[in-house]
Amino acid sequence: MARIAVGGFQHETNTFAPVKADYAAFEEAGGWPGLSRGGEMFDAVEGVHLPVTGAIETLDRHGHALVPLLWCSATPSAHVTEDAFERITGMLLADLEKALPVDGVYLDLHGAMVCEHLEDGEGELLRRVRDLVGDDLPVAVSLDLHANLTEAMVRHASVIDIFRTYPHVDMGETGGRTANHLCALIESGERWAAAMRRTDFLIPLNWGCTLTEPAKSIYAQLPGMIGGPVTALSFACGFHLADIADIGPAVLAYARDRAAADAAADRLLAMVNESEAAFAGRVWDPDEAVAEALARVADAKGPIVIADSQDNPGGGGAGDTTGMLEALVEGGARGAVLGLLADGEAAAAAHAAGAGAGIELALGGKSGAPDGKPYAARYKVLALGDGRFTATGPMWLGSRMRLGPMALLETSGVRVVVTTKAMQAADQAMFRHLGIEPAEQSIMVLKSSVHFRNDFQDIADRILVAAAPGPVYADPGRLEYHHMRPGVRRVPRAGSR
Ligand SMILES: [Zn+2]
Repeated sequence: MARIAVGGFQHETNTFAPVKADYAAFEEAGGWPGLSRGGEMFDAVEGVHLPVTGAIETLDRHGHALVPLLWCSATPSAHVTEDAFERITGMLLADLEKALPVDGVYLDLHGAMVCEHLEDGEGELLRRVRDLVGDDLPVAVSLDLHANLTEAMVRHASVIDIFRTYPHVDMGETGGRTANHLCALIESGERWAAAMRRTDFLIPLNWGCTLTEPAKSIYAQLPGMIGGPVTALSFACGFHLADIADIGPAVLAYARDRAAADAAADRLLAMVNESEAAFAGRVWDPDEAVAEALARVADAKGPIVIADSQDNPGGGGAGDTTGMLEALVEGGARGAVLGLLADGEAAAAAHAAGAGAGIELALGGKSGAPDGKPYAARYKVLALGDGRFTATGPMWLGSRMRLGPMALLETSGVRVVVTTKAMQAADQAMFRHLGIEPAEQSIMVLKSSVHFRNDFQDIADRILVAAAPGPVYADPGRLEYHHMRPGVRRVPRAGSR
């Protein structure tokens, strides 16, 4: 039986977003649990679809003794404040120091954390962990598919494994796989050679979805490339909204000998490079998307789903821009429903007025998001909710949502699901909470980039990706990067290589 320290510290940083993640952002619970420490950590993450949960289950099954450190996560946003990083890292290291001696460490990280004072949050955290535990102790790390891998992460971790799905439905599985690597390193005493390779182009968020090509085929082939001396192999699509030197996709191989690690990484990189031109797709203007949806709605076999991709709270959006709402009303899309629009003041006003009341509101547009402005109109309050429900879709299955007071408002025949707390619209339960059955809708606008596909793809007649105001810029070609290393193409090059 080995003694293993377990913790996690997750943030996906959109350096183009307006609001930073401070300590309070990690303390409070959202879709996921708030900061928890010590024995409370196991209770907080139990039954929640998270990498750390999969790791704990696997390590338990191996019969190891687990020592909890801390686990926390904040909604994707701009930089993590220096205060938040230093306090949380300080707590995690203090807990780890107290736990020593241990036989191994497992950490649940994201891999795109940018702090006010340093570009590579995870690389720095792992450097400090390594300083504490010494060069030889196995440290295993799981990362999000949207990790921007860095040399420091690879140098200081013994093994890193990465999600293989976007939408992320294999978080627990990835945690479990990473835990198995950790057990193998502890039990065998082996230390594996790592080989990392980067692409020289970015993959825009929308086109790295693993339900569609080319990512679907690449990830489908990946498991078959592991075996023999090759012990682990990953492909990270990168996060194009974190403007750092090490931005972008990368592959990472581990093997019992260096030549095998190099060969596996080279082979996987070649597959990704061959698919460069296919990592692209159409992004619609809001008016065009509404017109297209209205033209198809009569023959549709389910809702036409429009992704309000750039205001996705899962990528750093505030969830309160109104460009798509305006396009729906002006396009005459009666019967359409939009969600989730975060506006605590509007939700409170609706609760004060009561169901059935009419209220004048300047809805949304309060967060300071780029080009964000309120949409002023008279709204009817159709339904109210307390924002407490359990997610039912594959991504957040079992998560206890706490979105604060919610309201279903209607103006000009267009309905808006308003929440107090911003949350990506990627789960049908968010709509059922206010009495809306998604499958029965004609047009649904979802503030999400890709994650909604998991729970909505099967009921949708068609999916359109639209670019209304928000900082989750769908087109890296339109962004100004200041820290990206030279020689990286901001959008995949058209045509084959
Ligand atoms: Zn991700």
